[in-house]
Amino acid sequence: MLDLVIYPDDRLHLQSAPVESISKEIAELAREMVETMRAAGGVGLAGVQVGRLERIFVLQVPEQDPQVFINPEIVNFSDKVATFEEGCLSIPGVYADVLRPAAVEINFFDETGRKKNLTTDGYLARIIQHEYDHLGGTLFYERMKSGAARRLLKAYEKRKGSEQE
Ligand code: ZN
Repeated sequence: MLDLVIYPDDRLHLQSAPVESISKEIAELAREMVETMRAAGGVGLAGVQVGRLERIFVLQVPEQDPQVFINPEIVNFSDKVATFEEGCLSIPGVYADVLRPAAVEINFFDETGRKKNLTTDGYLARIIQHEYDHLGGTLFYERMKSGAARRLLKAYEKRKGSEQE
């Protein structure tokens, strides 16, 4: 199991660098990330969240196999937007509605080095955008209106504080 990077941590705001080669080591990292994500009860996990500042994330939609995204590029966002409740394994215990494009088209490589293209909407498009943001050092509260983001972080601090008591 990999250790999760928990907010506040400066690493969460850094840009991740491209994966240089899709090696056995990267495939193993992806496997460990999937394990860690599942154990933590999450549906997505980015490299930076386990201290690896590389452009890789994994996700798993219920009832489907896990998927690995390496060096992803979102090449299209829909004009149509949707609201979904989001949470983050790096900001545990708080959830909030976030407005984002409803559909995306993404190019990426899987853990075997195969180039892929995916156009999707709904829950999967939501997870992809949340994880993709992690690679650019953006956290989901930064996609919220400032008042709502402040309330979310306040709730998080309070929750953290009460856990330490
Ligand atoms: Zn997250």
